[in-house]
Amino acid sequence: MSSDVFPCLNCREIINLSMSNCQYCGVAIDPAAATAAAVLQDRVAEACNGASRLKLMSRAMLFTLLISFVPFIGFAAGWAFLFFLVAIPVLLIYWWVKFRGLQTSDPDFEKARGQLVGAVVLWVVNVVLWQGLALIGSIISGSLRL
Ligand SMILES: [Zn+2]
Repeated sequence: MSSDVFPCLNCREIINLSMSNCQYCGVAIDPAAATAAAVLQDRVAEACNGASRLKLMSRAMLFTLLISFVPFIGFAAGWAFLFFLVAIPVLLIYWWVKFRGLQTSDPDFEKARGQLVGAVVLWVVNVVLWQGLALIGSIISGSLRL
């Protein structure tokens, strides 16, 4: 999968690979460097998509944790929570292995890394909340039995 656009090495505007000169700053385009830049651009875009997807998943995980306390529909949400509990770390490791060595000064990639850290933090918060709520639940049901 390769797109035919890349950021101009001179002015950073997104331009088409088929052009011989940048349409914004007029600098001559070296086809080899341009192809490499286009490939990198694709990788950065892929990394950004993956990171924002993980952030959404960690939010959805928090949502399923809250829904799991609702009678009747809570059962399904509990299973969804367990799915996220496993899927998020697996995808995080996959992202890290695939993109950690990406050499780019693209600010979008920095943003993606920030989103990834956010997803890790939220996943940990989810697990702590889950265990904490389970503990509170067992204390309450234990004291009710007394
Ligand atoms: Zn340019």
